[in-house]
Amino acid sequence: MLIPKSHPRAVSLHIREKLVQGYRSGLVVEEGLMAHGRGETFDYLIGEKTSKNALKAIKAAAKTLVLAKYPVISVNGNFAALCPKEIVNLAKIVGAKIEINLFYVTEKRKRAIANLLRKNGAKKILGLDPRSSRKIPKLDSARRVVDKNGIFSADVVLVPLEDGDRTLAMKKFGKKVITFDLNPLSRTAQSADITIVDNVIRGMRILIDISKKLTKKKNLKPDRFDNKKNLAEAILVMKNNLWRKAHA
Ligand code: ATP
Ligand code: MG
Repeated sequence: MLIPKSHPRAVSLHIREKLVQGYRSGLVVEEGLMAHGRGETFDYLIGEKTSKNALKAIKAAAKTLVLAKYPVISVNGNFAALCPKEIVNLAKIVGAKIEINLFYVTEKRKRAIANLLRKNGAKKILGLDPRSSRKIPKLDSARRVVDKNGIFSADVVLVPLEDGDRTLAMKKFGKKVITFDLNPLSRTAQSADITIVDNVIRGMRILIDISKKLTKKKNLKPDRFDNKKNLAEAILVMKNNLWRKAHA
């Protein structure tokens, strides 16, 4: 059966294709393809659309980013391959720094990601100059390097599709962590301050729209947001979808 282009499944297949292209052009590593596969599973379970609880988390994230003193967007290969334009847009809107921060680091990959971000309008990109690298305490070697003008100095960090050890280390280092993670059970999802359980490609667009509106508002106050409760709601959405499918 041919699926119409606008159907959520068709959109997901298009996203998969973006990742494969990202892999072929040296942005994404093999492990990134596997991480994407894990993400697709959970996306299926949430019905391949932004849920109410994800929207709640996006609103809290937008407020936190707009109110932050020194927000930083951490970019890895998957994030860059999926939404380069959105990364640059969001950074402009909330006044965030962009830092390339990879789990599997090679200079070539960093350059490929930086080129893609520049092509999409990024002016300044952190994480490229070894002279400004600093270390997150309590994390092993290569994985702990961050930029002194980026994550090291940030109060709020947006780290989509991040590894659990790094998220925990950033938390211990005093950072407020916002993440996109389709798996509500991952260590990152469980340890972040705000977890958006949505496909980053859908969620980033909404995050941009809401942030844009919030920058025009006066007397903005931080949201009271309960991440554990929101994650429980995400799990419930998945459970209900499974139940419905099983009884359809
Ligand atoms: P953790 O280390 O946090 O316990 P993990 O080892 O399973 O989790 P990582 O590879 O470290 O996973 O991080 C990638 C995470 O990103 C996974 O939880 C995956 O489900 C999620 N993910 C993959 N693709 C997307 C996407 N497009 N949008 C949102 N989340 C995604
Ligand atoms: Mg991991």
